[in-house]
Amino acid sequence: MGMIYLYDLLYEELFPLLQQENWSRFRVSQVIDGLYRSKALEFDQISTLPAEIKEQLKLKYLFFSLHPERTERSSRDETTKFLFRLEDRQHIETVALPNSRGQFTLCVSTQVGCSLKCSFCASGLKGLVRNLAVHEIVEQVMYIIKAGFSVSNIVFMGIGEPLLNYDNVIKAIRIINADHPVNIGARKITLSTAGIIEGIRRFSELELQVRLSVSLHFPDSGMRSKYMPVNASHPLPELISALKEYQEKRGRQITFEYILFKGINDDTDTAAKMIELLRGLDYKVNLIPYNPVEHCGLSAPDEISIDLFYRYLLSRKIFVTLRKRRGDDIKAACGQLRLAAGNKDGETGS
Ligand code: SAH
Repeated sequence: MGMIYLYDLLYEELFPLLQQENWSRFRVSQVIDGLYRSKALEFDQISTLPAEIKEQLKLKYLFFSLHPERTERSSRDETTKFLFRLEDRQHIETVALPNSRGQFTLCVSTQVGCSLKCSFCASGLKGLVRNLAVHEIVEQVMYIIKAGFSVSNIVFMGIGEPLLNYDNVIKAIRIINADHPVNIGARKITLSTAGIIEGIRRFSELELQVRLSVSLHFPDSGMRSKYMPVNASHPLPELISALKEYQEKRGRQITFEYILFKGINDDTDTAAKMIELLRGLDYKVNLIPYNPVEHCGLSAPDEISIDLFYRYLLSRKIFVTLRKRRGDDIKAACGQLRLAAGNKDGETGS
């Protein structure tokens, strides 16, 4: 029999499974508390359990599979980036971003690499290696909680396209969202997509109140295809109609991510085009100054252009936020740390 990863399981699967060991309910709860409420990263560290139970657990079950290889903290704020090594020696990263209430938003990865190859994003530079398993997604969150961070929000904006690993991402969301034992509210969880239409349709049927964010960046199909190859097979007009259906079904506001690139999409004409494109949707725009990735020939606008773009949207009564650059001294933009790790130890596959 194969080993079972305990972080693959929902509470309602986990509890009966452990009860099959003929342990008392009390014992089973102690194990689950060890997984979710203690700082333990391996069975031996669950201090409440007798040695024989720990030995029994080790025969069939697996606890943490992620190995924290490096942690970097920004010198400017508390932004902290975790580089994890997976069992097959691949790497992923997770970022903890401080918010105003002294808590953290976690930016979680969903794939090793990415197949979409957006030209401005470091995650896809080496293509897709594989999807993350449910437990590898859950473990990113649990590791950081166990490291003492108070986590209030989760955004699936790390490496990968969450809607191309739909089943595992949704199950991981169910595990961390369930009343017991983690209980992070669905409204505090955001899934971000580059615009996978089939995935958006499936997501529209999901009864969870998870938020949807769309990486728009370019309001014109020709321009978008140039920088985001995904646009060729998932064209803007179809994407927008899938989003309208989503909104009709779920009634939730959509966030559009918009990276500002100097001289490409940072003028008010392009802003006006975006407003036209999104007419009829209930949305807000999150502006992100481009975080430079080497060798892709793009740059961020200066402060004045960013401010003009922002004010133009405000003047048109659009809900708009301007994302502060955080953690750029620790390469906290998508995929950058993993890329650096891969380069350093000479890996080509990661
Ligand atoms: N594939 C999903 C989730 C991962 S990307 C998606 O595309 O939404 C998470 C966000 O980071 C996206 O909005 C993405 O476009 C943005 N991003 C990627 N590279 C960036 C860079 N160099 N500078 C700023 N934002 C970047």
